Amino acid sequence: MSYMVALVKEALEYCDENHIDGEKVDTVCVEVGEMTGVLPEFLYKYYPDVIRDTVLAGSHLDVAQMPVEIECASCRKHYHPEAENGYACPHCHGKDGSIIKGRECTLSSLTLKE
Ligand SMILES: [Zn+2]
Repeated sequence: MSYMVALVKEALEYCDENHIDGEKVDTVCVEVGEMTGVLPEFLYKYYPDVIRDTVLAGSHLDVAQMPVEIECASCRKHYHPEAENGYACPHCHGKDGSIIKGRECTLSSLTLKE
């Protein structure tokens, strides 16, 4: 729920800064990383409640799930971890890496009504 509130706040601020009339927003597109544990269904369910008393009331939400991406500490290649190989790097089988994508929950774009 807090992710949702933060995203809506970000969308409202974006409208404000760019002089966009919030009532003209048709769809708010967000990107949610796999690692956040946030389920798109959950966002869709609560979106109408969160925007009810804002200028975004009546707009739609579009959630894109972003896969986790790891940068291998040994070979520096990027990969998507798979449970089958113990989340190891598929290029050099290294097990040390840092998560570079998949932990964020961000606003990606707003589409406006015609
Ligand atoms: Zn590697």
